[in-house]
Amino acid sequence: MAAPWRLALLGDPVAHSLSPRMQAAALAAAGLDGTYEALPTTAAALSERLETLLRAGYRGLNLTAPLKEAAWRLLGAGGPVAAASADAAALGAVNTLVPAADGAAWTAHDTDLAGFSEAARAACGSLAGRRVALIGAGGAARAAALALAREGVAHLAIWNRGATGRGALAALVAGQVTVAQLAPVGERLPGGFDLVVQATSLGLAAGDPLPPLPAAGERPFALDLVTGATPWQDRCRAAGCSTADGRLMLLAQGAAAFALWTGRPAPREAMRRALGLDTAPPARTH
Ligand code: NAP
Repeated sequence: MAAPWRLALLGDPVAHSLSPRMQAAALAAAGLDGTYEALPTTAAALSERLETLLRAGYRGLNLTAPLKEAAWRLLGAGGPVAAASADAAALGAVNTLVPAADGAAWTAHDTDLAGFSEAARAACGSLAGRRVALIGAGGAARAAALALAREGVAHLAIWNRGATGRGALAALVAGQVTVAQLAPVGERLPGGFDLVVQATSLGLAAGDPLPPLPAAGERPFALDLVTGATPWQDRCRAAGCSTADGRLMLLAQGAAAFALWTGRPAPREAMRRALGLDTAPPARTH
């Protein structure tokens, strides 16, 4: 009998994640015997955890905050991460691990970059030539910025609370796209954008400040990377914008991870249903 598909998500925290529900539905729809666990793991414990799970026969892992960059730093001979894909190298981050052919270490991948592109195209069509405002400069924003540059957007304006993160993200895509930096002044963005991407962690906790809204009287598409309903999405819709939440990207990056682990196309319809993507976004519980 074939070994069961033992898969897991590592992060700190992981309890809020919709990935276990989505990947369990994918395994069932593909007719694969297996489980997808959520295993709370700190950055300090990551290396040992990766060794343990490899020895225990796990056949695929996802990583979420704060482990994506920590896993990239483990890349190297003799450690638990032996090789990396081009997208993981471009980002300096890892969200998917697959056992190497010899079973002696993990191979690192990133599916957030392609996942963001697919989600943004699904939400608002071709991105080529668009003017985009990107709110945030953390890991999700880095994937979004690189993806938007690859998709050929005409202009990328980066809004972030911290000037250091804003500058580092602008430097990452400089030369690939015309880029501007927006200091956090006032509650609205300047005008002139077709698409606004909300890539901060704001909206996850009750009492979070509201990310900046589109300019008054303008109706760019508002794409939030937070999975589920947020006050920012509500305010954008009230201003006449079309919106989508982070479940589109979660689905796309998760489908790519499933294909890397199993070598089979992901059962996307079952994954969509598990995320409730054909219904209203789930309200977050705080
Ligand atoms: P991260 O690396 O920790 O970055 C956090 C970002 O939020 C930074 O830009 C930070 O600004 C900003 N921020 C945090 N608190 C703030 C505050 N009080 N006021 C203003 N800005 C604040 O996090 P991440 O990994 O990029 O994740 C960001 C979000 O994307 C999370 O909600 C995550 O769940 C989501 N995400 C979704 C997917 C998906 O598939 N849908 C994939 C990845 C991530 P500073 O630089 O100023 O600190």
